[in-house]
Amino acid sequence: MALDTALTREAVFIDGSWSAADGGGTIEVTNPATGGVIGTVPNCGRAETERAIAAAYKAFPGWKALTAEQRGTLMHKLCDEIMANLDGLTRLLTLEMGKPMAEARGEISLGVKYIRFFAEEAKRVYGDVIPSPWGDRRIIVTKEPVGVVGSITPWNFPNSMIARKLGAALAAGCPMVIKPSELTPYSALAYGVMAGKVGFPKGVINILTGDAAEIGAEMCENPVLRKITFTGSTRVGKLLAGNAGKHMKKISMELGGNAPFIVFDDADLDKAVEGAIASKFRNSGQTCVCANRIYVQHGVYDAFAEKLKAAVEAQLKPGNGLDDGVTQGPLINEAAVSKVEAHVSDALGKGAHLKTGGRRITGAGTFFEPTIVTGATGDMKVAHEETFGPLAALFRFTDEQEAITLANSTEYGLACYFYTQDLGRTFRVMENLEYGLVGVNEGVITTEVAPFGGVKDSGLGNEGSKYGLDDYLNIKYSCIGGLGF
Ligand code: ADP
Repeated sequence: MALDTALTREAVFIDGSWSAADGGGTIEVTNPATGGVIGTVPNCGRAETERAIAAAYKAFPGWKALTAEQRGTLMHKLCDEIMANLDGLTRLLTLEMGKPMAEARGEISLGVKYIRFFAEEAKRVYGDVIPSPWGDRRIIVTKEPVGVVGSITPWNFPNSMIARKLGAALAAGCPMVIKPSELTPYSALAYGVMAGKVGFPKGVINILTGDAAEIGAEMCENPVLRKITFTGSTRVGKLLAGNAGKHMKKISMELGGNAPFIVFDDADLDKAVEGAIASKFRNSGQTCVCANRIYVQHGVYDAFAEKLKAAVEAQLKPGNGLDDGVTQGPLINEAAVSKVEAHVSDALGKGAHLKTGGRRITGAGTFFEPTIVTGATGDMKVAHEETFGPLAALFRFTDEQEAITLANSTEYGLACYFYTQDLGRTFRVMENLEYGLVGVNEGVITTEVAPFGGVKDSGLGNEGSKYGLDDYLNIKYSCIGGLGF
């Protein structure tokens, strides 16, 4: 299937214009469901990034001077345009990333909700008047946009990862330079097409593709860019945070996870299975909040394993995301398939049992069977590393304290989930899990109205909600004297 040319650009968007890379270099983009090349995008480096940052800086005074309502009106127009193009954007996303069309549609619709939420929330960027300790002075606290923001996003949510950042930045009054993953650039570039159409001022939204290390280095070192917002691996996040720190820039980091999913003896097992399917196999296991370690209490271990196997075999259908009825798209590339394969063989080699799946799917594209292993233990790779693929590894535990200890025994702290019907246990476990996001009897909890962010090696800052907007604002304290009191 060809790219939808109305929404697609094989060029980068800087200062309201489309251009090639300075050296003319390009990067090929493939469809992971077929392995076929679907197009190319410019391979930009530092010089183009510097120009994009300069354009954003030029646009900053005008953009921040607009009222919240004026910025919000343009943001709502962008959302209307996205929804008017929902079918085309959905196909584009599925073509470059592979996820089933229903999931792609859901992702884009959720992205729109983030942008609309922030468009309204901008009207509520309240300051403070603090009771003054001096009779003749007044203390006023205001919030101001941080300035030009650089955004670096991954391939697993090519549309909504940008929406979450762009919505908050625009609402706060910050222009943005966006660098999507080179694996899924078209959903990002489509924002440029639509932003141009609805009349965003030049330079407020800039989007460029290319050499990630060079673009990242320019964002970290260019003094005009004041904040970096990143979603991706902990390795790259730490690199960027370190470099941004040298220039004292604000950062928001949404990094890796290793989510525990705990099923207690008193859980509603059918609900737990439903949640595990959603949490583990959504996006073929390629989300940073996917369940990675499924801990099941010994009393329900066998029953849960049987029910999960039945559900996986009945409900999950791998295939090209463009085809009807497919629930499991391809993994993003060969390296992703090899990683799942390595985790499965490591687990089986260390005594786990294969319950279903276990193999790559041969033929075109990069597919792996939805897989369950039982008898997983702490010495296996899957216990320590995010598989980022469709492997459900079932660990056994005995009591509540053991479950909490096991769940916390990781350097990550993004999402965790647990299933219980006991109220006391709900609070005990919820408060003792060292995570930023907790799903209690729920496997999918992301919403634009709630904060999304991790602790420990999973990152810093939040996206969504009023807290997500705060990440794009500086606090200014003004002390006003000479008032004649
Ligand atoms: P993932 O494993 O999810 O692809 P990465 O952290 O490798 O995670 O990629 C997330 C984003 O970070 C992508 O846009 C990628 O191009 C970008 N990226 C990778 N390496 C660097 C780097 N050295 N500097 C800046 N961005 C990078």
